[in-house]
Amino acid sequence: MRYLIVADIHSNLEAFTAVLRSAKGEGEITEIWCLGDIIGYGPDPRGCLQLLREHPHICVAGNHDLAAIGKIDTSDFNVAAALATNWTSQHLSNEDIQYIESLPLKKEVGNFTLVHGSPRGPIWEYVLSPVEALASLPYIFTDYCLFGHSHVPDLFQFEGNDCYQIQLPSTLRPDKNRFMLNPGGVGQPRDRDPRASFVIYDSVSNSIRHYRVKYDISATQEKMTRLGLPQSLANRLSYGM
Ligand code: ZN
Repeated sequence: MRYLIVADIHSNLEAFTAVLRSAKGEGEITEIWCLGDIIGYGPDPRGCLQLLREHPHICVAGNHDLAAIGKIDTSDFNVAAALATNWTSQHLSNEDIQYIESLPLKKEVGNFTLVHGSPRGPIWEYVLSPVEALASLPYIFTDYCLFGHSHVPDLFQFEGNDCYQIQLPSTLRPDKNRFMLNPGGVGQPRDRDPRASFVIYDSVSNSIRHYRVKYDISATQEKMTRLGLPQSLANRLSYGM
């Protein structure tokens, strides 16, 4: 069984399509595990929702998903993010809205907990340091946790009472050490690598592999410009930040 784990697609259909093509190129995908923020920022909210829903998948809600359907307010968003949220909310069908409303904030799948921000604060909290990872540990009831929100591939490994932040390796074998893993962002990476980031968990070989894939960034940027989305959001895709 191969599980494609993605986070922060952010209405970037070119990036999401490239990720799916790459993931399927190496074998069948049993299920997509999506860690939220399917929409927001980018030009193709409906296309990304549709593409995700065409596949067997499990998904949790992100802050941008909930903001676009008016479930949380955008007062904590910066100006560009709020403008893009406004635009996104005007480009969703009733079916899209119902789908997002149905998404849980947290989901346990076998040995994994799926969440957007953190297990302690699924909507808003960023996990960027071992201190934040340790604060979330009491809220994780599985061995491992998969999260997004920061758009940065990351690994927090727990050993006894300690937590170590490690660069996400190309291959990881889940073992007795619990961890929190961020697969990085698909549609708006922020680790200065503009390529889409994702991981694949193979439950048969018990391995998690990290991948980066190039996509047609200029195609996404041109759509954003044409649709009047903030230019700063288009520009940042070139730099992966
Ligand atoms: Zn996001």
